This record gives sequence, structure tokens and C-alpha cells, in this order.
Amino acid sequence: MRTFTDKEVFDLSKRLLLVGAGHAHIEVVRSMKEQPIDDVEVCLISPSEYFYYSGMFSGYTEGIYSLEDIRLDIRKLTQDAGVHFIRKRASRVYPNFKKLFCQGGAVYPFDMISFDIGSKHLPDPFMHTVARSIKPNEQFAERVDELRRTSHPLIVGGGAGGCELALSLQAYKNKEQISGDVRLVSSSNILGSRTKRISKKLKSIMQAKGIQLWEQERVEEVYDDYIVTSANNKIRHTGVLWLGGPLADPLFETSGIKVDERGFPLGRTTLQFADYEFMFGAGDCVTLLTDPNLDKSGVHAVKQAPILYENLRRFTASEELLAYEPQKVALYLISTGMKKALLLYGPVAAYSKRAWQLKNKIDREFMDKYK
Ligand SMILES: Cc1cc2nc3c(=O)[nH]c(=O)nc-3n(C[C@H](O)[C@H](O)[C@H](O)COP(=O)(O)OP(=O)(O)OC[C@H]3O[C@@H](n4cnc5c(N)ncnc54)[C@H](O)[C@@H]3O)c2cc1C
Repeated sequence: MRTFTDKEVFDLSKRLLLVGAGHAHIEVVRSMKEQPIDDVEVCLISPSEYFYYSGMFSGYTEGIYSLEDIRLDIRKLTQDAGVHFIRKRASRVYPNFKKLFCQGGAVYPFDMISFDIGSKHLPDPFMHTVARSIKPNEQFAERVDELRRTSHPLIVGGGAGGCELALSLQAYKNKEQISGDVRLVSSSNILGSRTKRISKKLKSIMQAKGIQLWEQERVEEVYDDYIVTSANNKIRHTGVLWLGGPLADPLFETSGIKVDERGFPLGRTTLQFADYEFMFGAGDCVTLLTDPNLDKSGVHAVKQAPILYENLRRFTASEELLAYEPQKVALYLISTGMKKALLLYGPVAAYSKRAWQLKNKIDREFMDKYK
């Protein structure tokens, strides 16, 4: 029987790059600890040593959770699973050469690659203004710490994330008796993708808490202490946080990958990219060909995670891959401050302390799984 040299053994193993420490990849890493994939060397590439959990951002903003409550130590998670951690930001991928380039010039070859890099919020024209984004998520705590003690923080975006952060900033100000009010500008109605009844419900909660709202107005210009909207309103602020909907990382488009009209790569139900079977993706950063209008929300990244892990394993073993089918209706819990939340499930909307307790339980259990 022929024996292999050390070099040959190394050459036989395949290299899997996990790019981004998002919701799906932390679960893939955790699964690798329980059941490593045979003959596969795995590297996780992410610019931060921490995973920040957006489900708990509102609680941190309001002062309920500490920094350690809302983040996970990626170094420890990867070390425990025998996965290499590389602290870098990916900038370009060359699928035909199977090489990933990172900022700073490092190049990593791969046999398979998976992306879970989330989305960003701040549009390019506002990059060099005082407007700030919490994305990447590792910037979140710093941004919020800056804003929550100022008198008139302004949020751009009336989706669930924007409304939740406005409400928690207002709750913090009320609790700490910091004068002023939180302001929110939205190009649609509050929670515009929901029914009118749900939209009105959240709007009335926000107004009752003292938040000033401008709906159906787009932010056109940002200056150091005021913004100008499409209705020509000038709104004073003491800091702008931009949460105006998910935008794609340009790396996919510049790498020549097949993307949707927003720049997100197109994915199959198996979570493989539409144009390359050895490239996978999950979470906000991918648009499924079968469900192009699926919300970009953490819920889907979490649900995709076990399918992603299993398909990465099956791909290396040349087995048939599983299909991900998004749930038709997902549960959303929007914290409204003072330990109350608005529960949304399809047409159902319920506003109560119990909804917040449920959110707290789900979020803590999620984090405990990895700690
Ligand atoms: C305030 C707020 C509250 C929210 N609450 C909820 C909620 O309660 N429930 C819910 O379902 N959704 C919620 N969302 C939406 C949710 O945050 C996103 O949908 C979710 O984070 C997407 O997860 P992901 O795994 O795709 O990416 P993320 O969790 O965003 O992770 C992306 C990772 O990739 C890394 N990364 C980014 N770029 C690169 C790169 N170029 N190279 C390498 N690594 C990179 C980042 O550092 C990060 O580690 C909320 C959003 C906000 C703003």
C-alpha cells in the first residue's frame, strides 16, 4: 500500500474560507466544533474580533444590556472549533482563480468559499458627511455611546431597525433625564412594508414617547447640524445615524459575480451562488433567486445556518445538497423602550411587556448557545 508524505496529506485536504462572522457563519463554526468536516481546513475571515448581535442593540442603547451581553468573542469561538481566524476585510474575489483578496493586499486561495458579510446602510454620497452608520456592526456601540447623550439625535430610516433604535435612544434620554428629543425621517411611512394598521400603531407609540417624525420625506442633504429633506424641511440634529435600508458590499459586483439590481449576489436554494457552485452565501448579503423580496433580516440568516453547514459538508463529499425554504411568516419583536415590545406575526400586532420578555428570552438564549 502506498503511504503519503506530510505534504501530500496537506495537499489532499481542501480549504474552505468563511468570509464574515455573521449569524450563519457563527453557527457553521459552532457545528464544526461538534462535527468537523473531514479533510477540510477552515478559515474565518472577518475585520472584527467580535460578532455583534443586532437583536440586542436596542437593549444596549437603552442601558439594559452591557457590551459583553451583546457580543461574542470570535477568536474563542474559532479556536474551540479548530478553525483559523484571520482578522481582515475581504475586498475582492476571483472565482476563476479561486482566490480571495483582502484589504492590505493579502491573498487567500480556496477550494470552497462562503460569504456571510451582511449589508451596509450608508449610501456613498453621504460617506463624507457627519452621517454615521452602525454597519459594520462592530461600530455600533461607539456610535450609540456618542449619540445617546446628545439633545437631538436624528435617525434616517423608518424600518424596524430605525424605529427600534429611535425608541431606545428616547427611552435612554427619558431615563437619564437628557433634554431634547429623538428625530426620525423616513422616505416611506413608518414600517412602510407592513399594513397601514401596523404602521399607524407603531407611529402612535413613537409619538406618545416624544419622538418627532417626518414620513414620506427623503434626506437629500446632510450638514453638520441640520439636514434638508425632499420636502425642503430643514431639521436640526446633534448627530445622524443612517439606517435607511440594506445596501450591498460592492465587492461582489466588482468581482464580476451575477448580482441583483441592488448589487447582492444571486443565490440558489442550496445557498450556492447562481454562477459558481463552489461559492456559497447566507444572510443579508445574498438574494435568493426563488425569493428575491425576502426581508434582509437576521431571522433568515439564522434559519439558513444549518442548511449552509450541511451543504458545505455535502459538497465536499459530493453528496446531494439540501434546499433552503424560507418560512412564509416570521416573528418580529420590536422593542419600544421601558421593557415593552410590539410583537408582529403576519397581520397580528400585540403591544405588551410580555412581548419584550419573550424577546429578551429569545435573544439571551441565542447568545448563550455560543458563550
Ligand atoms: C438596530 C437593528 C436591530 C435589528 N434587529 C433585528 C432583529 O431583532 N431580528 C432580525 O431578524 N433582524 C434584525 N435586524 C437586522 C439584522 O441586523 C441583519 O439582518 C443581520 O445582522 C444580518 O445578518 P448577517 O448574518 O447577514 O450579517 P451580520 O450579522 O451583519 O454580520 C456580517 C459580518 O460580516 C463582517 N463583514 C462585513 N464586511 C466584510 C468583508 N468585506 N469581509 C469580511 N467580513 C466582513 C462583519 O464585520 C460582520 O461580522 C436589526 C438591524 C438593526 C440595524
